[in-house]
Order: sequence, then C-alpha cells, then structure tokens
Amino acid sequence: MCVAKKILFVVLDGAADRPTVAATTPLKAATTPFFDRLAQDGILGIMDVIAPGTPPGSDTAHLSLLGYPVDKVYTGRGPFEAAGVGIKVRPGDIAFRGNFATVKDGIVVDRRAGRIDDTKSLSDAIREQLDLDCEFLFKESAGHRAVLVLRGEGLSPKITQTDPKHVGPFLYSKPIAKDASARRTAKIVNDFTRQVSLILGNHPVNVERSRSNLLPANAVLLRGVGSVPHLVPFEKRTGLKAAVIAATALVIGIGILTGMTYIPTKGATGHIDSNIDEKVKNVNEALKRHTFVLLNIKGADEAGHDGDFNAKTHFLERVDKALSNLEIDDETLVVITADHTTPISLKEHSGDPVPFLIRGQGVRADQTSVFNEYIAATGGMDRICGRDIMPVLTDLLGKGVKFGA
Ligand code: ZN
Ligand code: ZN
Repeated sequence: MCVAKKILFVVLDGAADRPTVAATTPLKAATTPFFDRLAQDGILGIMDVIAPGTPPGSDTAHLSLLGYPVDKVYTGRGPFEAAGVGIKVRPGDIAFRGNFATVKDGIVVDRRAGRIDDTKSLSDAIREQLDLDCEFLFKESAGHRAVLVLRGEGLSPKITQTDPKHVGPFLYSKPIAKDASARRTAKIVNDFTRQVSLILGNHPVNVERSRSNLLPANAVLLRGVGSVPHLVPFEKRTGLKAAVIAATALVIGIGILTGMTYIPTKGATGHIDSNIDEKVKNVNEALKRHTFVLLNIKGADEAGHDGDFNAKTHFLERVDKALSNLEIDDETLVVITADHTTPISLKEHSGDPVPFLIRGQGVRADQTSVFNEYIAATGGMDRICGRDIMPVLTDLLGKGVKFGA
C-alpha cells in the first residue's frame, strides 16, 4: 500500500448553508454525483473554520485552513488584497483596500462611482501626482476597486477607515492607539484623501463622465487596513510545494503571501459565470509540478450573499460536473470543503461549521456516501477545528510531526 504524496485542497467558497423552510440546503438539494462518489470512498466531518459560532471572513478562513494562527497573523484584509493584485508587499507595510467613489459636498453619494470599470488613467494620475509623507504604492484593481500600500518606519494599522460603507458623510481617519505612529498614519491617510480629491476633481475622465451624466470618480475610500504579516512560508511549514488557483484577489494574495505559486486562469471571474472547466485544466497541470494545490471556487458565496437558493444550487451542480474531470491519481489526497457558511437566509457569513471530506490513500473511509452538511455531521472525522486540517493531511502523507519519543 503506498502513501499519498500530494494534496488537492478544494474550497467551495461559502458553499455551506442553513436549512430553508423546506429543511434543505443548496448542497443537499444539488445533484452532485462526483462529490458523492468521493464521499463514498472517503471520510467526512464538519469543521469550525475559526471557532464555533465565529463567522469567518474568506481571508481568515483560508489562513486558518492552511494552518496559520489567525489571531496572531491577521490585522486586516488590505495586505492580502494588495498582494493579490500584484503589489510586492513587504512585512510591516500598511495596506488598504480602496473604492473609487463619488463624493459631493463631503457626502459619499455613490461608493462605487457609478460602477466605473476603467480607472487606469485616474490611477496613473494618482501615482504621478500624489506626494505623501512616506513611500506609497497605489494600484487599480477590478472595476471600481484599488489598493493603497504605505511603506516605511513609524506607520501603524491602528487607525479608522475613511469608507463609511454606505451613502453618507465622508469619514476622516483617526488613530485608535495612543502612539505617534498611529497619529502619523491617520494624518497621512487624510492627506491622501485631500490630495486625491484635488487630483481627480478636474481629471479629464471625470470631466467627460460629468458631461455624459455619469457619476465622477472623485475620491478613493479606504478600508480593510492591515499590516502585512510575517508568514512562515507554507512550504517551510509543511514541506509541500504549493500552487494557488483562484479568481479573487484576496485568495490569490493569501497564496502569494504564504509563498505559493499563483497560476492564473483564463475566464475565471470569481462570479457565478466563472470558467470552472479552465480551472480544472489548470489543476490537472499544476498537480504534475506541485505537491499541494489550493483551488478556490467563489460563485456559491456570491449566490449566498444574493440570497438566491436556486443559483447557489445550480452553481454547485455545475462545479460538481466540472470537477469530475479532475485527473486524480492514487498519490493524491482530495479535500472538498467550504471556507465558511453563507446562508441564503442571512446573505452574510455565519459561524456554522462547514462540511468537509478527505479521500485518498490511508483514509479510513466511513459509512457516508453523500456530501452535504447533514451527512458530514455523521462522518468519521466528527468535528474538528479549521487549523487542524493541515496537520491531519500532512500526517496522512506520512509527514506528521511526532510528539514524544
Ligand atoms: Zn469565502
Ligand atoms: Zn462572502
């Protein structure tokens, strides 16, 4: 009997759910013959990705699933987003997520500037003209989004954000710690806001937008501030050579910051229309050169946030069909799970445990033969914590760290 050598770790983002009035969930209602076959050959369980009753963010969830102590390494989403859009962040950098927005007389009238989709020349102007009291990097991302990174000594993430998160008065950043670096960082952020409004106010793109009755993108709102953490590379911690295949900047960024190789996928949108077949082809290739592949498929989370049961169910059926083309050999352990529950009823993440399955060499297959939240709760793995899944997997590969003589 051989021992598995590789891991394919599939995260169906937000796939888990709570029962509807008809006492079902999208995973339970969906026809998923591939997942069910894996369940039959494997072992199931449920998992508190962070802790029982704690709704995880996608960022903290993925870090926890990869075995990182989130309470120690996580200060905010910005650093992962910044890495995910291609900024070479360094530990200690202060990073923010940003939105191009429309501000009028100090009021945020549209947080997405009329869903502007091309901010390249606005971002160029910011990069060329902005003059801050520290080194900075600014980069546009998908649609109305952007990231800002502040670099240098004497900076702190202990400040408030400028994004009010809804239509309303614009916010100024304030320090939330009583130290000079927090005060200085808040001052730099407010200076950023002031300069950006001057740079963008009369920018030709905005003049043209106003003429066409479109909302001008005359401000950048900042949120998700965090300090780029020191993360021990995933390969150093586990001995596994890892790749990440994902569409969302956040998950890509987590992969990059943990030292994984990012493999881009054509047509992967992070939405319900994403090209999953192309991702599967990428995974099949990646498994030839890596011993760990993290595959994130986002659509189910989006359908959960939209409160759309049918969309979530059909998406999961589409994923099951696409994943049935995975080329999984005897040397590969397959994990299927979710990073959190995104109930249709809440349209937000919840703290319910997620189902998971492990299939491959060395796994003590249990009696389950269907993959959903209910059956997983009866599986042989019982209930574990998110940070424990990687040790379970590496132990199955024969790389468990012995405790004692
Ligand atoms: Zn997620
Ligand atoms: Zn979500």
